Amino acid sequence: MSGVKEFDYLVIGGGSGGIASARRAREFGVSVGLIESGRLGGTCVNVGCVPKKVMYNCSLHAEFIRDHADYGFDVTLNKFDWKVIKKSRDEYIKRLNGLYESGLKGSSVELIRGRASFAEDGTVEVNGAKYRGKNTLIAVGGKPTIPNIKGAEYGIDSDGFFELEDLPSRTVVVGAGYIAVEIAGVLANLGSDTHLLIRYEKVLRTFDKMLSDELTADMDEETNPLHLHKKTQVTEVIKGEDGLLTVKTTTGVIEKVQTLIWAIGRDPLTKELNLERVGVKTDAGGNIIVDEYQNTTAPGILSVGDDTGKFLLTPVAIAAGRRLSHRLFNGETENKLTYENIATVVFSHPLIGTVGLTEEEAVARYGKDEVTLYKSRFNPILFAVTKHKEKAAMKLVCVGKDERVVGVHVFGVGSDEMLQGFAVAVTMGATKKQFDQTVAIHPTSAEELVTMRGGVKPE
Ligand code: FAD
Ligand code: NDP
Repeated sequence: MSGVKEFDYLVIGGGSGGIASARRAREFGVSVGLIESGRLGGTCVNVGCVPKKVMYNCSLHAEFIRDHADYGFDVTLNKFDWKVIKKSRDEYIKRLNGLYESGLKGSSVELIRGRASFAEDGTVEVNGAKYRGKNTLIAVGGKPTIPNIKGAEYGIDSDGFFELEDLPSRTVVVGAGYIAVEIAGVLANLGSDTHLLIRYEKVLRTFDKMLSDELTADMDEETNPLHLHKKTQVTEVIKGEDGLLTVKTTTGVIEKVQTLIWAIGRDPLTKELNLERVGVKTDAGGNIIVDEYQNTTAPGILSVGDDTGKFLLTPVAIAAGRRLSHRLFNGETENKLTYENIATVVFSHPLIGTVGLTEEEAVARYGKDEVTLYKSRFNPILFAVTKHKEKAAMKLVCVGKDERVVGVHVFGVGSDEMLQGFAVAVTMGATKKQFDQTVAIHPTSAEELVTMRGGVKPE
């Protein structure tokens, strides 16, 4: 067709899923065009995992400094300068944007800059130019949800958090999921007077009960610098002449708030794509409906990543995108991501690492009688000599007579780096006996996972 540029594979979205799938497709020799309207790398690189981890690491320094004196160091702290870490973080991300661009160039993926949408004739339009793919991948990700509350516009979202030029004196964070607990933890530990507002009694309610209980209990402790407001919903936000906010809630009023952050979930960026023109169906939340092979309801149009609404995690988008390219362009007709045993870490204070089924999920799937739990709760040696105390807790969820380990849940220091290896074991179908046969590494927190005894039944 004249005036339409054709590719074997046309990818909309240069984030985690899109870039991974595009580059893998090029390895199989097909022509690939990739459309990106913003900064390369998408959410994860620019306003997600990467800058978040830098800020998490920054807040870890604050935690170490808190405990320095107990370890015998006489260190005088003059101040913390947010601008220093913001500048080096931004520079790091710029370098990553450049690396992504050169990576695409190196793979000979044609980069098309601009906002894509489907035209009436089914082609993909960007700045008036038309493109068509024999296969087209939609990997446009999502954006933060803003509630419909009077004055909500005075708040910012996680994107805005990364634009902050200074540490806010007082912050209100609204939400109970990953982003809320992570951002609130960073700000509180860096010294902002931080208030976390949750609708129910606990944070991370969809996680294993032990993890949700432990983190909520820790946030309730006086030693945790964060102020947790349970069963609290914002009713109105008012901006004063001094620029500070008054946040009215169902349980009271928080005044002189410098920064209000909404962290109540994310919406897929699918509305403006004109998906109805090509027959791509979405669910009520706008998430693209895909089958187990990432096929949408329209032939030749596929989707991976956050816009499908399943496991909004970078490695998931990447794995789904790469496997899809193997299936489409390398004859691996059965290659797909099975959305099971996906390990994930919440960079909360203290940390959470989890893989596999929660206790509740295991009971629902296998029945109470089939499930055996191993639990441990202890004081990590890191805090044995410090005034500040933090607990660690672990749980193995096992099923059947051979006690196959179907869930590993870890709360506390070190759980982030601990989990990847255990995720391999769970994926391989390891049993509790095989965990027991593994010699422990001492002294670590992780050794608890291979030394737990006394299995109990779910309550
Ligand atoms: P994205 O990475 O969002 O990429 C989509 C791309 O499409 C974007 O670059 C966008 O500009 C582009 N686009 C959108 N619409 C169009 C259009 N019409 N035309 C052209 N281009 C378009 N995950 C983890 O695994 N670990 C973490 O620690 C972690 N931390 C996070 C912290 C925060 C604050 C947030 C917000 C997310 C975090 N995530 C984390 C989630 C992770 O960032 C996402 O799961 C991941 O980025 C999804 O990849 P994606 O390719 O589906 O979408
Ligand atoms: P989440 O879905 O994780 O959590 C949002 C939570 O906010 C909900 O679970 C809900 O909890 C609460 N909520 C929803 N609506 C409202 C409301 N109107 N008022 C108050 N609270 C509300 O979304 P996030 O935005 O935190 O993160 C999006 C996704 O990004 C995550 O699910 C995760 O997949 C990914 N991510 C991953 C990270 C990582 O890997 N470390 C870090 C950050 C994000 P409740 O029902 O209990 O009120």
